This record gives sequence, structure tokens and C-alpha cells, in this order.
Amino acid sequence: MLWRDGRRSTNVEDQRGSRFSGKAKGGGIGIIILALIGMYFGIDPAIILNLGQNAQVVQSGPSDLPHQTEEERQLADFVSVVLADTEDTWNQLFRAAGKSYTEPTLVLFSGAVDSTCGFAQAAMGPFYCPGDGKVYIDLSFYRDLKQQMNAPGDFAQAYVIAHEVGHHVQNLLGISSKMQALRRQVSEGEYNKLSVKLELQADCFAGIWAHNADRVRQVVEPGDIKEALNAASQIGDDRLQQRHRGYVTPDSFTHGTSAQRVRWFQQGYQTGKVASCDSFNAASL
Ligand SMILES: [Zn+2]
Repeated sequence: MLWRDGRRSTNVEDQRGSRFSGKAKGGGIGIIILALIGMYFGIDPAIILNLGQNAQVVQSGPSDLPHQTEEERQLADFVSVVLADTEDTWNQLFRAAGKSYTEPTLVLFSGAVDSTCGFAQAAMGPFYCPGDGKVYIDLSFYRDLKQQMNAPGDFAQAYVIAHEVGHHVQNLLGISSKMQALRRQVSEGEYNKLSVKLELQADCFAGIWAHNADRVRQVVEPGDIKEALNAASQIGDDRLQQRHRGYVTPDSFTHGTSAQRVRWFQQGYQTGKVASCDSFNAASL
């Protein structure tokens, strides 16, 4: 991805190095209950809400900003450019539809973070909190994406941001609040099915961003789309579950299979149109 000359977003909030005082037990390095393993990406905010009730954040010690390596500095810079590029994309698309786009804030954190959706931990992966309209990411996720999920490349990293921004777009379009309301009305299995559709739509929205980055701003290099598709494929629920448990249980899928994630990203990438991302009314996923 040709990103270095890109605009930097002014909506990045750097909370790396912050600490929490909640339920501190004094002394020692923070150990956190890892309630969620295996869902590294695009966490359902409801899960975070639940986790918020269970999580005990035990963290103490100096609150110095951790020493930032050159790699981390570059990653933070990269994230800021990608965020700005999503802003350009969605500002333009909303304007074209006669609406105005409220840009999300992106919070960089390290280890754990407090959001309106509750406490979240790095191990859960990046997420979007509809309550405060912010995207949260611990940059260490990118190391996992590359090393553990076999999805290297800057465009794979950009896709992660674009997917979370996709959830923000859903929030602005009122889709998130509809989901929240449905959560209280339907069974868990039904809700999981809806959640898959929500995730696939966010993937499609990420594809729309890629479409614009490619055709409007020409920042996409050969091989980039393949990187994003590979990332989408590596982080499908089936693949993640298989990696972590050795088997898959489709009933608990909440993000979609690898093939579905690839398909919906491609759909957005090819059409560049929001209307093409209606996973909720699609005949098949
Ligand atoms: Zn997601």
C-alpha cells in the first residue's frame, strides 16, 4: 500500500501506557482473566459488555509510557493514514447520499482499555464500541495477525481498520441499534446468525474502502487485495476455531466462515456500493 504520502487523521487518541486502578490488588504485574480466546477480530460489543462484568483488571506499577520502538511508531503512523483514508471514503459516500459522516475516533491502547462497552483486552483483538463511537486497537494485534494468523502485509493491517470502521458506518446507519434491540428478542442461535450478517456487512464495507483507495486514490499496490483477502480468510470463525481447538462448531460462528468473509469483502471491493452490502437480505451468504 502506498501510504507514506497519505494524510494523517486527527482522530487518533493514543492511550498506550495508560493504567487502570480498577480492583487493583497491589504489587505484581497485571494479570487479566482471558475470558475470550480465539476471537481475535471484530469482537461483538455485546461480548465485551459481558466481559466487562467479569473482567478483573489487576494492574499496577509505574504508568510510564512504554518505550516506543521504531516499528511501533511506524505502525501508529500507518494506522493514522488508513483511518484518514477511510474518512475520505466515507465522507464522500455519505455526502453523495445526502448525509453527513461523523468520523470515528481510533484509540490506540496497550494491554487493556476501558471503553463505554466495558473493559477490553488486547487478546480480544480490535473492536468497535457503538456506545462511544470509537475503534480500539492494540498494535500488538498486528504481530499476531502476521505470525499466528499467517496474514502479513500492510494491506491486511489496513483491512482490519477498515472492517472496524465498517462497524462505525453500521452504527451511523442505525444497523447497530437494531441489532441491540433484537438481541433481547431472539435466541442466542438466532442472534449469532444475525451477528454473522453484521460482520460480513462490515467486511463488505471494508471492501468498499479498498475500492475507493484503489480507484479513487490509487494507493493500492499489486498484491494488496490478495493480502486483504488472505487476512479475511485467515480470520474466519472456522479457521480461527480450528486453529485454537482443532474442530469447528458452526452454531457458535459469529463472524462468518473464511469463504464468506472473502466473498463479502470482494463484493464491496468490486462494486464500491453500500447497497451491494446488504448481507441481511441476501439470498445466501
Ligand atoms: Zn467485526
